[in-house]
Amino acid sequence: MPRRSLLRLALSALSLLVASDTSAQGTGAAASPLAAGAIRLTYLGNAGWEITDGKRVVLVDPFLTQFRRWRPGGTEVAPAGLYVPDSAFIDSKIARADYIVITHGHSDHALDAGYIARRTGAVVVGHETAANLARAYAVPDSQLITVIGGEDYDFGDFSLRVVPNIHSALDDKRYYNNGRGIAGTAPRGLRAPLKRNDYQEGGNLAYILRMAGHEVLIMGSMNYIEREMEGLRPDIALIGSNSQRLEIFDYTKRLMRALGNPAVVLPSHHDAYGDPKPSAAALADRRRFQEEVAAASPSTRFIAPTWFEPIVIPTRAGVSDRVAVSVPGIAPLVPAYTEAIRAGGQVFVSGMTGIKPGTQEIIDGGVGPQTRQTLENIRTLLHASGATMAQLSECTVFLTDMKDYAEMNRAYIEFFPSAPPARATLAVTALPRPAARVEIKCSAVVAR
Ligand SMILES: [Zn+2]
Repeated sequence: MPRRSLLRLALSALSLLVASDTSAQGTGAAASPLAAGAIRLTYLGNAGWEITDGKRVVLVDPFLTQFRRWRPGGTEVAPAGLYVPDSAFIDSKIARADYIVITHGHSDHALDAGYIARRTGAVVVGHETAANLARAYAVPDSQLITVIGGEDYDFGDFSLRVVPNIHSALDDKRYYNNGRGIAGTAPRGLRAPLKRNDYQEGGNLAYILRMAGHEVLIMGSMNYIEREMEGLRPDIALIGSNSQRLEIFDYTKRLMRALGNPAVVLPSHHDAYGDPKPSAAALADRRRFQEEVAAASPSTRFIAPTWFEPIVIPTRAGVSDRVAVSVPGIAPLVPAYTEAIRAGGQVFVSGMTGIKPGTQEIIDGGVGPQTRQTLENIRTLLHASGATMAQLSECTVFLTDMKDYAEMNRAYIEFFPSAPPARATLAVTALPRPAARVEIKCSAVVAR
């Protein structure tokens, strides 16, 4: 295409965006300003979110119609039943949308998108199935961006990386046997009103939305492809978190590790489809997911969202991930220091000695046993910080007598069978604990 045509295309796209800005005047939280670098996330129920930097409004899997089921007279729609968006409720909650990002075509993700796109002029981003479902609502192709996974698209003031993904392992891992009849694709030519089973999956996507300096991971299912998540570094992660995740091996721990322990985790797809009175089992499972995140990534801030209550996350640099790590039984000698600090993808462990856990006494037997106990105490603190001995990058060893060097080394090397950390060893005139012959401080790199 010649440059001039490209320019014209860009200008017409720009005027489209300006037009949608203008049409958005008037109502809604989305229109209110935000501090530079801040981002606001509002939970819309199920896997639905509104994300904005105060300038652009991106919706994710909007499915506000789910709440109709719990109102008087509401029922679950049968698979072959007509499924119509709750336009009055949607209108009361959605004032504006510039883009609608769809993870997959199931009705609990894609039902409302066509209606909202038609009303607001928003551009729908998703697989061909998501596009065809929006076409059923007469959304024009100029408002459809069909993706297949792997794209990384720049939209000017935000960008969107499309991450290949897989669906939750429903039906005891037999989801793709297609017993529900919704593991296929939606064809072109559909016309609203649609049946619930017209909303086929059409493949599955996750996204990284970069906006106002933040990177937000968007997931719509309780599953992921680990190699596709590996190395992504979102500071905010919207994680599919209902009990279907339990079908997946080590779901939370593997994901937190692959993502480098995001600063903020918001559980998604966890609200029992808008049920205002969730079962005790569902509530217990929500707590369990939070515990899984805390165990896998102690520095992560977990925020349980409430429907339609905005959550503002300040600038990414302002999201401090500094966490003080303490372990019962390994108490500081004085309150002038913390045993370990995790911050910026590193763990810093204070100088440790061979104290027996639960006491302030140094273990008997001289420098060999003291070195072993010191390293055991370091290992305990690293584990509490989400790190391992193999991630230690450097240590400093303090001895009260350099004659202990060889014996210290014999015990020390037992903990590092290969590639021991970088190290310096010093002899000092005294240590704060008079009975200690050795003290070791160290740090580990856990993410980046
Ligand atoms: Zn689904």
